[in-house]
Amino acid sequence: MTDFPRSLIEFQRCFPDEAACATYLFAARWPHGFVCPGCGKTKAWELQTKPSTWECAGCRKQTSVTAGTIMHHSKLPLTTWFWAAYLMATHSNGISALQLQRQLALGSYKSAWLLCAKLRRSMLAPGRTPLAGLVEVDETELPCRSKNDPPAGGRGRGHQGKILVVGAVEVLDGGAGPGRIRLKGIPDYSAANLHAFLAAHLAPGTTAKTDGLPSYAGASSVHHDPHVVGKMAAHIVLPWVHRVFSNLKIWALGVYHGLRRKHFQSYLDEFVFRFNRRRPRHAAFRSLLGIAANHAPLSYQMLISPEAKA
Ligand SMILES: [Zn+2]
Repeated sequence: MTDFPRSLIEFQRCFPDEAACATYLFAARWPHGFVCPGCGKTKAWELQTKPSTWECAGCRKQTSVTAGTIMHHSKLPLTTWFWAAYLMATHSNGISALQLQRQLALGSYKSAWLLCAKLRRSMLAPGRTPLAGLVEVDETELPCRSKNDPPAGGRGRGHQGKILVVGAVEVLDGGAGPGRIRLKGIPDYSAANLHAFLAAHLAPGTTAKTDGLPSYAGASSVHHDPHVVGKMAAHIVLPWVHRVFSNLKIWALGVYHGLRRKHFQSYLDEFVFRFNRRRPRHAAFRSLLGIAANHAPLSYQMLISPEAKA
């Protein structure tokens, strides 16, 4: 089996049933063989009576391949999880819960939404390497809506709020193109917020090219390269971050009809995940399932109140 399927036909061949999905998850979760989450011992046997479950030879704890992962206690078959991960990861624009519900014939919108939300949380890879080299940094505003607002484009646009976003884009050698990106929703453009963003996402010694907003000045450990320009010229001085922002706006309106304030950061994370894995797109599937298999479980409550800590 290849590392990741490159087409729907190949996907179907790789993951025809629960057993095939479980084998793949096992390898993603325990690449060096089973490790008991209870005692850390590696000797275990697979149970004949329960599917994809191992019993530790040391402490006798039984562990299913999904126990303690994002798929913990899910009533959905693994094949459904895999289809959803494949569609979310490889679709160039991503897929909404409603589209997923239809494509996978899921019983309710809520279970489609939960599936999407859990996979979206698996799009933030732990231990990401910070951006480095020459990095364009800029800010923008995105319209967002609360639960009761109509989707953007309809009446009631006036009710929409704005969310401020700061973004960073690596510039490849000689401006050949964009490398990786980072996006973060922030409450205001204060030095504290912008400096925290730079510290979290840019490696020490990185050169941050900005539009000269004074709040960037004085950030520690990065070289600040301000280019004070009028609004019209900013897209010329900072072309890549501007292109990312305009793609982000089109995506947010097109796929989600405007982002919801409550889940804003997880949508930004989804956009970043997809952008950073655009070549090859299909490798994103392996990446997504790899993170999902190693991600602690999330309850519905945790998902609907993102501020709650896992
Ligand atoms: Zn054990």
